[in-house]
Amino acid sequence: MSNLFVNLTTPNGHSYTQPTGLFINNEFVNATSGQKISTLDPATEIEITTVEAAGAEDVDRAVKAAKAAFKADSWKKLPATERGRLLVRLSELLEEKKELFASIDAWDNGKTYSLAMEDDLPDSIGTFRYYGGWADKSFGQTFETSPEKFAYTLRQPYGVIGQIIPWNFPLAMAAWKLGPALAAGNTVVMKAAEQTPLSILLLATLIKEAGFPPGVVNIINGYGREAGQALTEHPLVDKLAFTGSTVTGAQVMKAAAAQLKEVVLETGGKSPLIVFGDADLDQAMKWSHAGIMSNQGQICTATSRILVQRNIYDQFLSLFKERVRTASIIGDQWSTDTFQGPQVTRAQYDRVMHYINLGKSEGATVETGGEAFAGPNGKGYFVTPTTFTNVKPSMKIYRDEIFGPVTCIVPFDEEEDAIELANDTMYGLGAAVFTQNLRRGHRVAAEIEAGTVWLNSSQDSDHRVPFGGYKASGVGRELGPAGFEAYTQIKAVHVNMGNDL
Ligand code: NAD
Ligand code: MG
Repeated sequence: MSNLFVNLTTPNGHSYTQPTGLFINNEFVNATSGQKISTLDPATEIEITTVEAAGAEDVDRAVKAAKAAFKADSWKKLPATERGRLLVRLSELLEEKKELFASIDAWDNGKTYSLAMEDDLPDSIGTFRYYGGWADKSFGQTFETSPEKFAYTLRQPYGVIGQIIPWNFPLAMAAWKLGPALAAGNTVVMKAAEQTPLSILLLATLIKEAGFPPGVVNIINGYGREAGQALTEHPLVDKLAFTGSTVTGAQVMKAAAAQLKEVVLETGGKSPLIVFGDADLDQAMKWSHAGIMSNQGQICTATSRILVQRNIYDQFLSLFKERVRTASIIGDQWSTDTFQGPQVTRAQYDRVMHYINLGKSEGATVETGGEAFAGPNGKGYFVTPTTFTNVKPSMKIYRDEIFGPVTCIVPFDEEEDAIELANDTMYGLGAAVFTQNLRRGHRVAAEIEAGTVWLNSSQDSDHRVPFGGYKASGVGRELGPAGFEAYTQIKAVHVNMGNDL
């Protein structure tokens, strides 16, 4: 067992015991696959540790544990209020260790420690607490039929939920999925992203400590094509929830279709941010910068296409360039001055650099950045914050999700042109609109094909408000009341009150 825990000290000085096994039935175990995943610090390229990687047999073991836990009285008969209390307890335990968890996500992912503390941790803690409150607020309905019939509905859990999360907000993505699924009474097998497994495994220790019965939450690491795919294809998994790329989301849906499993998918985006001539330009400039450059541009809703009305275009462009110059300070995750850390992996770095070079060869103009950034000792997957102009809507940098600190600034003339440009994409995840005209703001919000519209902000998401994609950006909703409903199914009960044959 000793090889399933390792003593680590984060670069900012937190010493702790990191579990490295698969978490099944409230215990850490070895993977029978014999495979391990190495995870590293993308700022230094130094390995942090290795963790066990699940194969299909391990996935089967985890799913069977979740199925048994779903049927066990310890979970099935637990009053809903008690389920809620377990989630609130989990939220409290996480809050007590928030500095440690923020440090681990910063170390493993490359995001800044300050962003993890300001964003990831409050979001995760808040989501668990919020869904703790939902557990005993699930209501069925009664129906007017005839005097001979009484009919009502129950909202029931599905059973075992297979959850697959990405690496960009590791802990928060786990909370968005675990919170509502557990509040509704399901059990879970969650697969962490292979690039960022550490915080999720440590979270498993808090799940046990909070008092969840064995098998209710099982957490595995593993590669997408092995563990991820095995989870999507497992016949005992009753519903799937996935966040990641659109291509992989489609594969998950295909696997689900073969067994008619339901899915919730949060996938990619190429979200527009529209700045009208009447906007508060200082605010528009600050939010549009944060909207694409924060978290290294690795946000599914990143507002990566900035559309600016022509009468203020030149002014906005110079303000934006100045903002990049003064605010986008690149460095390691730990300095409070750092705004932008490294991309999560070499693969992501290569992908972003590929798009930057493509933008240049397609003929766009580089206004800021446009190259790699040499980190300390020449290491790390750093990219300079890149702004393109003279971008045509046909260019790949304008159409594809890059998932890096790369934006295009494009002019438009009239409101209808802005809406047309905004909607000219296969995606529909987020959008932002900057205007001081109330009527225009609401009118444009209604016209944009996206699951989220921010009026005069960007990336300001909230666990109390539903979140999800139009078009190729997703299926179903997470967060808010809709996020809870997604983990319940409706059963109708017909009671014969005198319709004798
Ligand atoms: P991905 O979609 O392939 O991976 C996301 C998760 O799915 C990971 O846990 C992965 O192991 C798992 N997975 C991969 N293949 C699978 C399969 N066949 N069956 C089941 N699960 C599988 O994303 P990635 O390779 O990490 O990143 C590639 C691109 O995806 C990024 O450049 C970015 O554009 C996009 N992305 C989007 C988000 C988002 O939040 N929308 C998050 C991460 C990545
Ligand atoms: Mg890592």
